[in-house]
Amino acid sequence: KRATEEAERGRPATLRDGHEIAIAANVNRPDQVPLALQQGGEGVGLMRTEFLFLERGDTPTEDEQYETYRGMIDALEGRPLIVRALDIGGDKQVAHLKLPHEENPFLGVRGARLLLRRPDLLDPQLRALYRAAKVGGDLSIMFPMITSVHEVTALKARCEAIRAELDAPTVPVGIMIEVPAAAINADLLAAHVDFFSIGTNDLTQYALAIDRQNPDLAGDADSLHPAVLRLIRMTVAGAKLHGRWVGVCGGIAGDPFGAALLTGLGVGELSMTPRDIPAVKARLRGTDMATLQALVERALAAESAAEVRALDTGAGA
Ligand code: PEP
Ligand code: MG
Repeated sequence: KRATEEAERGRPATLRDGHEIAIAANVNRPDQVPLALQQGGEGVGLMRTEFLFLERGDTPTEDEQYETYRGMIDALEGRPLIVRALDIGGDKQVAHLKLPHEENPFLGVRGARLLLRRPDLLDPQLRALYRAAKVGGDLSIMFPMITSVHEVTALKARCEAIRAELDAPTVPVGIMIEVPAAAINADLLAAHVDFFSIGTNDLTQYALAIDRQNPDLAGDADSLHPAVLRLIRMTVAGAKLHGRWVGVCGGIAGDPFGAALLTGLGVGELSMTPRDIPAVKARLRGTDMATLQALVERALAAESAAEVRALDTGAGA
């Protein structure tokens, strides 16, 4: 029985009509890769590198970062790895960096904004990544908290300068879509990047104006709110204009009904906590694209997240 279960997990998430959805894992360290693969992950869709900083009291050196990224690539044995550049600030405060106090850290110098102000953090990370890419593997780089095109052009210029200096191969560069402005301007941003990964945790927080950490509002912070679904629709449409692929790496990707809706919206890759993978795959295998697209139409016309959730009739939807 165990062997059949394992084989089942290893099969792709293929809809009844043959559409295949890529299923990846959110993994922060090389030692978490075996579980991700065992659960049926086909790669890593989000490596949160701020954990390299949060789990210790100082800043990892370029060499230490290189070792970690190489370890991750080796553990994946040729499967894709998307490394997210440091997303520090907001809910990810790194005490030893002694960053200035902010009244509203979620609206402050976070993610890409910090990277652009701190070449001492950005450059060693990019150097470690391009050195790792030089050795081989399927690596992509992704930037968090992008709001505007100028941030993307500045970060890509840094990538290219470091790549050239190291004589490293080009690496696909993508961005997180987690600020409503980025979803709204997705068509403009898509011209500059290779892929999008939608961070529904932050996209929900910023679209609904609900602090993602406020327990009093946790019930209302639902990524299936129709406003969030509409932002996801805009993101997919913008990406499509430029032939870019779109993934989702926020928590809703690991919810079977959420995964069904995202697939119907045209998302091609879902990245989630390893333990969520088997149920998501099972759910997708029981349905087809036409059913999911019809479901999405109804969800987009709903007036609340509760109304969207009421459309969940279990497997087959
Ligand atoms: C997100 O915002 O949805 C996301 C995946 O990033 P994080 O949870 O690390 O902010
Ligand atoms: Mg985020």
